[in-house]
Amino acid sequence: MTKLPTPKPWISAIHAYVPGKSKGKDGRPLTKLSANENPLGTSAAALAARDAAAAPALYPDPDSNELRGALGQLHGIPAARIVMGTGSDEILHIAAQAYAGPGDEIIYVRYGFSVYDIAARRCGATPIVAPDADYGTDVDALLALVNERTRVVFVANPNNPTGSFLPKGEIARLHAALPSDVLLVLDQAYGEYVDPANDDGALALAESAGNVLVTRTFSKIYGLAGERLGWGTGADHIIDALNRIRGPFNLSNTAQAMGLAAVADQAFVVTSREHNAATRARFVERLEALGNHGVRPLPSQANFVLILFEGALDAETVYNGLMDIGYITRWLPNQGLPHGLRITIGSQTQMDEIADEIIRLARGA
Ligand SMILES: *Cc1c(COP(=O)(O)O)cnc(C)c1O
Repeated sequence: MTKLPTPKPWISAIHAYVPGKSKGKDGRPLTKLSANENPLGTSAAALAARDAAAAPALYPDPDSNELRGALGQLHGIPAARIVMGTGSDEILHIAAQAYAGPGDEIIYVRYGFSVYDIAARRCGATPIVAPDADYGTDVDALLALVNERTRVVFVANPNNPTGSFLPKGEIARLHAALPSDVLLVLDQAYGEYVDPANDDGALALAESAGNVLVTRTFSKIYGLAGERLGWGTGADHIIDALNRIRGPFNLSNTAQAMGLAAVADQAFVVTSREHNAATRARFVERLEALGNHGVRPLPSQANFVLILFEGALDAETVYNGLMDIGYITRWLPNQGLPHGLRITIGSQTQMDEIADEIIRLARGA
C-alpha cells in the first residue's frame, strides 16, 4: 500500500465554507441576493481608479501604506495600528492562528458567522458554541463558557446570518468580564450599515484595550467583494503579531488603488447606508403587515434580513418560489436554520417583488 500525505485530523474535520450561489439548478443566471453584496455596485471613483493601478508586473506595496493612511485618517486611528488582509477573512484566520492552537478553545455564538468554526479548526483549536438568545448574541452565555483554555472570542456585530446587533453597553459588558489575556474579535463586516447614532463602541475599545481586535471589510458597503480587501485594528502588540503571519503582498495593486479611491468617496457609503435602511424598513414592514402566517423577519441592522418560517409555509418552498421568479437567496439548513432564509437587501423594485411573492405564498399555504 502506498502511503499518502494525511491532513491533520483537525483539518479533515472542517466543513468547507459554502459561498452564496449565483445560479439556479438549471444553470440559469439569477439576481443574486445570497451573498450580501452591494446592490448599488461600486463607487464610480473606485471603478475609475482600477485603470490607474500600478503595473501588474510589479509587486504591490507589501504594507498597503497609502490605504492604511487613508483608513487611519477616516477613522482617527494611527496607520501603525491597522493591518490589511485579503478580505477580513484573512484577518479572522490569522487572529485565531496567532493566539490559539491545539488544546485551546475559541468561543462564538450559535448562528454566528460560519468562518469562525473554520478559523478555529484550522489552527487546531476547539470551537465552543454558546447558545443564542432568540437568534441574537447572548453575552452571559458566551461568558459562561470562558475558562482557562479560552484564547479567542469571536462576535460579529451585526451578526451574519441573523442580522442581530449588540448595543454598546452589551459589548462593553462582554469586554469588561473577559480575562485580559483572551482576545475579543469584534467583526464589523456590516459596521458601516449601522446608523452612526448606534455605534457599538468597538473601534474605541480597540483603541483603548489591550485585547480587542476589530475587523472591517470592503466587501459589503464599499461594493468591492471581488477585490478582496479587509482590515483590522487593535493594540500595537496585536497588529505586530498579525503582521508576522499575514500574506506578505496580500493586497494586489488593483485592490489597493480601488480601496484608496473608495475610502475617499464617503458619499457612496452614505448613499448605500441610506438606501439599505429605507429599503430594509419597507421590506420588513410589508412582511410584518402580513399578520399571523408564521413569517418572522428578525430585526436586522445589516444589509440583509433573516426570515424565519414558523407556520404552514416553509423556507425551502419560499427559496424555490423565489428562484422561480428569478432570485437566488440563502436558505440555511447547513447552519442549523432549515426554517431560515437570508435575503440580501436589493433594489426597491426587487424587494417589492420578493415581498409580493412571499405574501402570495403565505396566504396560499
Ligand atoms: C461578509 C463577511 C465578512 C467579510 O468577508 P471578506 O473576507 O472581507 O469578504 C466577515 N465577517 C462577516 C460576519 C461577514 O458576513
